[in-house]
Amino acid sequence: MSEDLYEAVIGLEVHIELKTESKIFCSCKNEYGALPNTHCCPVCMGFPGALPTLNRQAVLLAVKAGKALGCGISSVSSCNRKNYFYPDLPKGYQISQGDSPVCTGGYLTIYADSVKKKIGITRIHIEEDAGKLIHDRSSSTLIDFNRAGVPLIEIVSEPDIRSAAEAAAYLKKLRLIMLYAGISDCKMNEGSMRCDVNISVRKKGSTELGVRTEIKNINSFSFVEKAIDAELARQIKFLKAGENIRHQTLRFDPETGSVVTMREKESENDYRFFPEPDILPFFITTDDIKKISEDIPALPDEREMIYTESYGLPHKDALTIISEPKVSMLLDDISRRTRYIKNTANFIISEFPAFCEKTQKDSAELAPRLAELCDLLGDGEINSSVAKKTLRVILSSEETPLHYIEENGLRMIRDEKLLKATVKKTIDENPGMASDYLNGKKAAFKSMMGVCMKLTNGSGDPVILTKLLNEALKNHHIN
Ligand SMILES: [Zn+2]
Repeated sequence: MSEDLYEAVIGLEVHIELKTESKIFCSCKNEYGALPNTHCCPVCMGFPGALPTLNRQAVLLAVKAGKALGCGISSVSSCNRKNYFYPDLPKGYQISQGDSPVCTGGYLTIYADSVKKKIGITRIHIEEDAGKLIHDRSSSTLIDFNRAGVPLIEIVSEPDIRSAAEAAAYLKKLRLIMLYAGISDCKMNEGSMRCDVNISVRKKGSTELGVRTEIKNINSFSFVEKAIDAELARQIKFLKAGENIRHQTLRFDPETGSVVTMREKESENDYRFFPEPDILPFFITTDDIKKISEDIPALPDEREMIYTESYGLPHKDALTIISEPKVSMLLDDISRRTRYIKNTANFIISEFPAFCEKTQKDSAELAPRLAELCDLLGDGEINSSVAKKTLRVILSSEETPLHYIEENGLRMIRDEKLLKATVKKTIDENPGMASDYLNGKKAAFKSMMGVCMKLTNGSGDPVILTKLLNEALKNHHIN
């Protein structure tokens, strides 16, 4: 923060669309990008007399999100009506949850200035999404109701976040956890992950909370950071001038980089929350929870531990792989097939952008070939430069490592007689390098190794070659 006297207190409310087949209260398809108003029915259009039925899959995914974030799960949960009027909400109310959300009390960890920090999760509840207003060029507004009734979870954090950077770290971590657990595709640009920011400032050391404002519906990580910085600067300016902060709802304008007032903040009472009469309270059994917990793969924190401690990867490299779930899951696939998992991890790091371009399907297909390559390298059948070359070939074709290596004569050459001849030829043809080396130019050794490798088509055993070259140079006399 620009002003050292003040401290930011930030809590995030994140809306995430759940990856279900159908909507939360009707059987309309839950699909992004369909022709407008083609996935609608009397229930999600709010026709009088239409009755909602709760989609069990949405509840189970909310439970899964809760388990992935270390939350407690309610055995009985129920829905509430949140009443308000908006053109994209044909019923005039949203079905959400009040006092009995599906999950409460979890956390996630982020790195704040390289130090691990826990951010508390207050609750996760299910609710329905609203339709989408499209403001077209002719200054009219169109409504697409395909999104009305798409299942959402709202994940509410504790006000534990202290800066824009921490907020971004929280969101990125949350997104990754949701991706690994298969809860949502979390595409901020398509609106399947959106964020509201609650923000206030107080004097450092004070435990009292300042008046907070809420910035609604931000749909990119960088906008979240910019919006927070802009709002913090605005609040601090007000406080320094001795003025009061008003309890407002704001929106971030990316074009000006500033926050704009939408309305004076409503209170919970304004929504006239009441129990939803058309949906009965629902039960979540310990059996449900057990099955769901078993279905959660290793999450980012666990992966970080495995990669750094078992695979010996540097922390930065571990986080790089984890940042791309499909690449990290490819590593899972390979680790089940090879004895040399460390090689694979290193390969993935060395060609990371190429791996990122692969789709999930490509990754599944790649796993057996990569495992074969790692075994060949680990068993000493090929050297590391051949392995790198082969990797590039198999990433861009359907070639198998063994076939490629045989076909191109790349198997490691360990025949000492042959390698001795290679060393002799290298020295004979490059007397300058040899005398340079003997005159103290250590780098000349590397150059001679390069020539040896070239003469063996990159396949000479580097350990044997180093030994033979050393021996030959010892006996070599400068003419
Ligand atoms: Zn419907």
